Amino acid sequence: MRAWAGILVLVAPLCGALAFKVRPVLADDLVEAAMAAIRPESIQAEMRFLSDDLLEGRGTGTRGHEIAAKYMASQFEEIGLQPAGENGTYFQRVPLRKTRVDAAKTTVTLVRKGQEEKLVFAENFVALGDPGRTESNVEAPVVFVGYSVSAPELGYDDYKGIDAKGKIVAGLYGAPDFESALKAQYSSSAGKGATAAAHGAVGILAMDDPVLEKIYPFKKVARDQAFPVLRWLDKQGQPNDFWPELKCGAFLDLEESKKLFEGSGHTAEEVFTAIKAGKPMSFPLALTAKIHRESKLEDIQSPNVVAKLEGSDPALKNEYVVYSAHLDHLGIGEPENGDKIYNGALDNASGSAMLLELARAFRRMNPPPRRSILFVAVTGEEAGLLGSDYFAHYPTIAKEAMVANINMDEDLMLWPLEDIIGFGAEHSTLQVVLETAGKRMKLSISPDPIPQEVVFIRSDQYSFVKQGIPAVALSPGLKSSDPKIKPMEIFENWETTRYHHPSDDMNQPGLMFGEAAKYARFAFLCGYLVANETQRPAWNKDDFFGKRYGKR
Ligand SMILES: [Zn+2]
Repeated sequence: MRAWAGILVLVAPLCGALAFKVRPVLADDLVEAAMAAIRPESIQAEMRFLSDDLLEGRGTGTRGHEIAAKYMASQFEEIGLQPAGENGTYFQRVPLRKTRVDAAKTTVTLVRKGQEEKLVFAENFVALGDPGRTESNVEAPVVFVGYSVSAPELGYDDYKGIDAKGKIVAGLYGAPDFESALKAQYSSSAGKGATAAAHGAVGILAMDDPVLEKIYPFKKVARDQAFPVLRWLDKQGQPNDFWPELKCGAFLDLEESKKLFEGSGHTAEEVFTAIKAGKPMSFPLALTAKIHRESKLEDIQSPNVVAKLEGSDPALKNEYVVYSAHLDHLGIGEPENGDKIYNGALDNASGSAMLLELARAFRRMNPPPRRSILFVAVTGEEAGLLGSDYFAHYPTIAKEAMVANINMDEDLMLWPLEDIIGFGAEHSTLQVVLETAGKRMKLSISPDPIPQEVVFIRSDQYSFVKQGIPAVALSPGLKSSDPKIKPMEIFENWETTRYHHPSDDMNQPGLMFGEAAKYARFAFLCGYLVANETQRPAWNKDDFFGKRYGKR
C-alpha cells in the first residue's frame, strides 16, 4: 500500500444495489475446479521469487522491477493469456519523471514581526522535489485552512470566508469524519492541491498534528525522503497532479506546526480539538513564510504488465473485468539492521502472486466466463498510484470496456481468514457481488474498521474510480472467533514493525499461505460473478463517486 509521504506533503447507505442480481452459478463444478487450481504452494513460490533480494525491492524504474515485470509476462504467457499491452506485447511503458529535492539548497524561513526563524531540513521540515521545475521560490503570508477541504456538497468548506489569493495555505492532514471513502477522498493531497490552486494559493505548508504523529511520525517522514518523487507524464510531457501556481510546499514537524499559531489568537490545542470535533476553523496566521526549493529532475520509464483472457460471450467478451495488483515496491532505501533491501513480500508480492493464481484459475475454465478478464500488474504504486493512474487514463483497451476493477494490495495472511473487507464496494453494486461470494465461502463482509487510514485512496483501485469505473480494494478482515487470536493487534503490530521496512520479507514469521489461497479464491469468485452477470456493475443511485466521476 502507498506510503503516507505523497499524501501529506505538497502538497451511503446501500441503496440501488438490489437492482443487481447475481446468477445462481456458484455451485458449479466448473467453478469448484477453477478454485482448486489456486494453490498455497504456488502463491508461496511466486512471492519467494518476487521478493528475493536479487530483485532489490522492485523499485519503480529499476532493473529489479524490470526483472519482476519480465517474470510476470513470462508467467502470463505460460498460463496461456494473450498479451494486452502496447504493440502486441505484455507491456505498457509508463513515462515517468523522477524528482529529488536538493535538501542542502532547500530552505524554509518563517518571519514573525520581522524576526526570522530558519528551519532545518529533516529536523523541523521536509520538502518533496518539484516535478515541474528545478528551482522555485515563494514568499507570502500564511493562512490556516483547517483540513484544506472544500466540500460544499457535504456542507463543509475550510476556505469559506478566507482569502487565500497570493497566500501560502497551512493545513492539517486528513478530512472531517465523512463516511470512510469520502473521508479518504477528501484527505488526498492531489485534491487538496487542486483546491488550493483553485483558490489562488501560491504555496502549501502541510502540518503535523498529534493524530498524524501517531500513525506516521515525522521521523519516518524524514527517513522516507530518501525515496524520490515520481510523476507520470501525459502525452504533452506534463507531469500529473502538478499545479504550476503552487510554487513551493513543505511539511512541518509537530513543534513547528504548533508554533504557527503563535500570535493568531488561537492555541494549537484549541484548534486541534475543534477540528477533531468536526468544527471547521480557518483564519490568517501572524507570519510570513519564505520557501526556496531546488530539485533534480530525470525522465525515466517503467512498465505495467497487461494480459487478457478472452470471454466466451460473443457480445460481452468486448467488456473486461480488470484485476490489478502493484508489482513495484520501494526498492533500496535507508538500511535497517544492516538490511537496505525493501523486499515488499506482503506489500505487494502477495497481490502479484494472486494475479497469477487468478489467471491460472480462470484459464482452466472451459468455457471461460462470458466477459473477458484483464490482469494488470501495475508499476509506480508506492510512488503515488502512477502505473494504475496512467493505465486508467490511457488504457490499452477501450476505456468504456472496463466494467469493474478488483484490486489486491497487501494480503496480510497472518491470521485465519474469517471475513473480508471490500474498501469502496458499498458505493456500487459490487457490494452485492462480495456478499454473494462471501456467502458461498462462509466469509462475512465487514465495513472499513480503520477509516483514519484512508485505504480507499491509497491503492490502485482509486485510479479506476477517478475514471468512473466501479472498483473495490479487497482485504482480509479482522474478525476472529478464537479469543486467543487478535487480528487487529497483529495488523497494528505489522504496520509498525514491517510495513515499508526491509523486514517485510519471506523470513517474517506467521505467513499462512493456505489462508492466502482462500482469499485468492474469494477474489476469483468476485471477478467470476461480475464477468458472468449480464448487467455490468453500477454506482449506487446518487452515489458521491458515481456522480463525480461516473459517466453512466
Ligand atoms: Zn506499500
